[in-house]
Amino acid sequence: MSPSSAHKLYPILLSPLRVGAHTLRNRVIMGSMHTRLEHESEPDKRQRAFYGARAKGGAALIITGGFSPNEAGRLEPGGPTLMAGDDLAPHRTVVDEVHKHGAKILMQILHSGRYAKHDNIVGVSSIRSPINPRVPRPMTNEEIDATIDDFVKTAVLASQAGYDGVEIMGSEGYLINQFTAPRTNDRTDRWGGSVENRNRFSVEIVRRIRATLGPDFLVMYRISAIDLVERGSTADEIDQLALAVQAAGADIFNTGIGWHEAPVPTIAFSVPRAAFSFAVRRLRKVVSIPIVASNRINMPDVAENLLADGACDFVSMARPMLADPDFVLKAQEGRPEDINTCIACNQACLDFIFSDRTATCLVNPRACRETEFDEAPRQPKRIAVIGSGPAGLAVTSTAAARGHQVTLLEEHDKLGGQIHLARRVPGKTEFNEMLRYFIRQIERAKVDVRFGVRATADDFAPGAYDRIVIATGILPRKPDIEGIDHPSVVSYLDVLLGRVAVGKRVAIIGTGGIGYDVAEFLTHVDHGENAVDHFLNEYGIDTSITAPGGLKAAQPASSPRQVTLFQRRQSRPGERLGVSTGWILRNRLRGRGVTAIGGAVYEKIDDHGLHYVVDGDRKVFAADNIVICAGQLPNTALADELKRRGLEATCIGGAERAEELDALRAIQQGVRLAYDL
Ligand code: NAP
Ligand code: SF4
Repeated sequence: MSPSSAHKLYPILLSPLRVGAHTLRNRVIMGSMHTRLEHESEPDKRQRAFYGARAKGGAALIITGGFSPNEAGRLEPGGPTLMAGDDLAPHRTVVDEVHKHGAKILMQILHSGRYAKHDNIVGVSSIRSPINPRVPRPMTNEEIDATIDDFVKTAVLASQAGYDGVEIMGSEGYLINQFTAPRTNDRTDRWGGSVENRNRFSVEIVRRIRATLGPDFLVMYRISAIDLVERGSTADEIDQLALAVQAAGADIFNTGIGWHEAPVPTIAFSVPRAAFSFAVRRLRKVVSIPIVASNRINMPDVAENLLADGACDFVSMARPMLADPDFVLKAQEGRPEDINTCIACNQACLDFIFSDRTATCLVNPRACRETEFDEAPRQPKRIAVIGSGPAGLAVTSTAAARGHQVTLLEEHDKLGGQIHLARRVPGKTEFNEMLRYFIRQIERAKVDVRFGVRATADDFAPGAYDRIVIATGILPRKPDIEGIDHPSVVSYLDVLLGRVAVGKRVAIIGTGGIGYDVAEFLTHVDHGENAVDHFLNEYGIDTSITAPGGLKAAQPASSPRQVTLFQRRQSRPGERLGVSTGWILRNRLRGRGVTAIGGAVYEKIDDHGLHYVVDGDRKVFAADNIVICAGQLPNTALADELKRRGLEATCIGGAERAEELDALRAIQQGVRLAYDL
């Protein structure tokens, strides 16, 4: 498709719009995200490469991760600040690189308030957050005034560093949001009580930044469009805040959805695409400056539909920009099928940050690691890849794109391997995008794909290939339990692939990612077209936001089956699921009556069900079916055969090591190997 037809496909998304004194070249904003790049060696070089790639890829406006305006505002000890005395040079490096590629850049100013993970923690009131053990010290009047001053000083420094403006972080439950919501503000002075008093902090920050820096400096205010917490703001209160901030001089609203402590998932894969657009659509009718939609917008058609529908003026994408820096460019060139789509797994972005590691991306291991990959062309080689799961697809597509001549041998009649399991799990349909992306790259590079080939050592004459890569994946582990061959016992493969009919009472052996995925699969009821409504009802989201925080009684879905998960370890079942997604899965399954038993000793399986001992008590779980999700073993049959013949091969993914295998490791290994060839 030509670029001009692409503009017909995404006419609004690709069109410019004026904001304050600036014109943004299209409607795509790269939202703020903490990456922890600033903690790495050579932070300037790495941040320049990271942000520069996104600017070059067509984003109109980039917003940095949050910088706090003073010590108390830091998220953690050593967290980024921009205060008097801080070096502006690293900022200028990033800003210049972004400007060089025609994009604008704002610095986010974030005061963490009661979310701070350090001892100098302050808040509006002395009310602790449920996700932080530290109790905040209420700020004095003088401290509040000084903090407003600090926001202004930081904005001045940002202007001196060359930023086009700032984003004032007023959502997600950080300090500014703590002022606006009754949940966290029980003050009786001029900063609490009436809506006007609670809004004063936000209004003063915006008013004074505008007065100090004049009309050319972009001021974006990130407003909480729905708090999703008890005693959060109502629609009426949000509207009053928006109008006051607009009158104080903001140029544009970005929107946040839910506080960090909200009991509702807001960005994970289980949230349907654009599910929260109702909140920004509602607010857009109230304000007269442009407004940005965010959360689970990951493809250009989703964005275009929101814009065309009048929900927003811009879309913000943070994770999709990690996944593909060239998102906008590909939309402009009319090839959305080449976009490496964010699958909302959080595995390598949020979960890494929560465990103090620099973010990257499951589908794009080069994200935040741009400087580690040598893009210089290599001497083309003949490569054989056996197996087309995530590891095989990653090495094949990357090596072929780098000019190598790749032959891909696949035993089955379609590409994808374990991706076909993941994409069947309710809420994980984004894996379809992963598959589409890889297949498209392999077709584009004209890889020689041979289906239906169960490769043996005879397929590899000495010297036929410069490198043989084994990506044959895993074999499910069959635990040594008496009666394991009983007809009621089925493998997770058979269940997820729909090869067996599963009864009403089900025991699942194994509580890893796959055990939980199978539990989700077996207890889910498909709501087809009504997925968004169903999601909103399941979590009790009041789309009119008349209830404080936009929360009403939740209506957990009922399960068509009674499911119990078992594990041998004494630890809390499901504790090794993703940090930012595990709680969602555990809560959801609990709501459907799924139970989990730890410390089980399996005795046998027979017509009565699963016999086990727990805490010394002998028990029987009467099950129609027992699903085995007991981990995997590497499938090394071909690798062993080649070794016996003296042929060298490199194993990646599950074929290399089955423990703790996931798509993250498989794709990382595949991509890194392709760069090393
Ligand atoms: P896993 O996480 O290693 O879990 C295997 C489970 O099987 C454990 O609960 C283990 O618990 C049990 N087990 C192991 N050996 C057993 C034996 N001999 N007899 C009975 N039970 C046994 O493996 P997985 O669930 O297959 O997942 C594979 C990988 O994919 C993991 O790295 C996982 O994180 C990843 N994955 C991730 C997600 C996600 O949502 N992020 C989803 C799917 C898969 P006990 O030893 O305590 O019994
Ligand atoms: Fe998206 Fe997952 Fe990549 Fe994060 S790690 S950006 S959620 S695909």
